Amino acid sequence: MKTIKQLNKKTRKPASPAKRGEQKSKKINKPKVAIVGLTCCEGCEFAILDLGEKFLELAKRIDLVHWRFIKDDPEKIGPYDICFVEGSAVTKDNVRLLKKLRKNSGQLIVLGNCAHFGGIHRMKNWVGRYKALGEVYEEPEGIDNLDILPISEIVKVDFTIPTCPINGEEFLDIVLQILAGKKPQIRQNPVCLECQASGYECLLQKGEICCGPVILGGCNAVCLKSKQACWGCRGLLEEPDVDKFVKNCFLTGHSAAAVKKVLEVFGVKDDWINQAQKEWRGGKTETGLVKVKRAINRAGKS
Ligand code: SF4
Ligand code: SF4
Ligand code: SF4
Repeated sequence: MKTIKQLNKKTRKPASPAKRGEQKSKKINKPKVAIVGLTCCEGCEFAILDLGEKFLELAKRIDLVHWRFIKDDPEKIGPYDICFVEGSAVTKDNVRLLKKLRKNSGQLIVLGNCAHFGGIHRMKNWVGRYKALGEVYEEPEGIDNLDILPISEIVKVDFTIPTCPINGEEFLDIVLQILAGKKPQIRQNPVCLECQASGYECLLQKGEICCGPVILGGCNAVCLKSKQACWGCRGLLEEPDVDKFVKNCFLTGHSAAAVKKVLEVFGVKDDWINQAQKEWRGGKTETGLVKVKRAINRAGKS
């Protein structure tokens, strides 16, 4: 899967080039906006609501034509200038809806870890789709049981706003940049930078698995504030040193299975393995990397 920077590098050609193509490079006045949730906990949508008065100010600058919290017309899909999508495509109906939204939206922007990586739903892929279904349903026949994919692997995505849940202030900042006709950027700093700037205790140094050194910052290290290690919900940095990080985990006594468990929570495991393989092919043949690549792959199949 692509990193945030790669995902956010190119913008898709608009659905209606003559009209929406101009809007993408210029200030967008009163765009028609939809916020749609697929399968998810709706936490990212609540993060938008939690903006309170700031959200009401934003609402004056857009034409919010569809949001189930406020206005819901499930029969009508689009056209939208901007469509925000939260959640994962867990069912065939989710996939159909997603494709319709893509077709009828100038820009499709995904919100949160579920849409970005498949999030918690993606654990099903690693447990085994059928095994997972059997854990929940006594009679699983007829239940949709798709592989969980990042939204960007199902339809073209114009921009990704990461985190579980999204940071309302970051959402606001990105939307205001889009309305001003700019291409938003997310800075490539690790979570550690914000963690240490806030004076939080380093859990990695205490021997915990904390992915902060290789994970994209921007969440203000919110988990570390509560003494909870970073499990990577914002995804990998552009050029993470996965090898070094995992070797440190091994040196402090953690097993590949323990690392794998952490990486599966928010769905970053596949990215992690891809990065390890890339570094390996790129000439880094250190024992730690080879070991983790094999160990995580093996643990993934168990
Ligand atoms: S990313 Fe997190 S908060 Fe947002 S919908 Fe998924 S589980 Fe909920
Ligand atoms: S606690 Fe985690 S995020 Fe904070 S400095 Fe240590 S490794 Fe980095
Ligand atoms: S600290 Fe890590 S897990 Fe927590 S919100 Fe930030 S990126 Fe996500």
